[in-house]
Amino acid sequence: MSSIWFLNGVKKGIKTERYPYAEPVSAPQWPSRLSGHDGGNCPVDAITPDGWVMEKCIFCRRCLPDYKPTGDQRIFTIKKTEDTFRRSFHVFPIDSGACGACNMEFLSIFSPQYDANRLGIFMVNTPRYADALIVMGVMTPGMKEALDRAYEAMPEPKLVIAMGACAVTGGIMGENPLDREKYNVEIAGCPPSPYTLIAALNAAMKDKRKADYFESKRQEVH
Ligand code: SF4
Ligand code: SF4
Repeated sequence: MSSIWFLNGVKKGIKTERYPYAEPVSAPQWPSRLSGHDGGNCPVDAITPDGWVMEKCIFCRRCLPDYKPTGDQRIFTIKKTEDTFRRSFHVFPIDSGACGACNMEFLSIFSPQYDANRLGIFMVNTPRYADALIVMGVMTPGMKEALDRAYEAMPEPKLVIAMGACAVTGGIMGENPLDREKYNVEIAGCPPSPYTLIAALNAAMKDKRKADYFESKRQEVH
């Protein structure tokens, strides 16, 4: 029987996306970078006199039509990284108080559609093998010690990645985000899309050769 499923798979061919070598096949409009002006009525104060604050946005759409999604999935900031992560990047996820949606999106980047392994991004089951801790959710008191111990267990050099509005700014709760001084990469979204995650983790790997290659491939596609 297994050979039938194998042959079916072969007939269907490769379905894995080439992003970020090519444009995303099914990029969602929400969440993506918002563009607009004026407006208001934002429940989390993500619209300020200086414009849209991606880290605070929970993508509730209440600001439509003043602000509209652009489809641009690159809503993240790399504050610090290390050369040593250029070839492979091992991440350990930890849920400090998430609703479950960030967790699902994170796991999906290892599915056949996105296959983060092809970019050298791997999930590990212990912080002892991790290059980066990827934290989802607000900082609940009960998880503080677990987070500290996971961080202590990681080898140097190491990064902390705050994933999603809750971890970065408190999100819909509006309080108890991670300590901004302690993380090195912040990924906006509620939850971030798999494309945003892949782009952010790939950027955190700091592989200039790969970045140049992506750019040349992108130009070929257009
Ligand atoms: S989508 Fe919602 S949270 Fe984001 S800026 Fe608009 S109103 Fe604020
Ligand atoms: S950022 Fe949004 S999706 Fe992620 S844990 Fe918070 S509420 Fe859930």
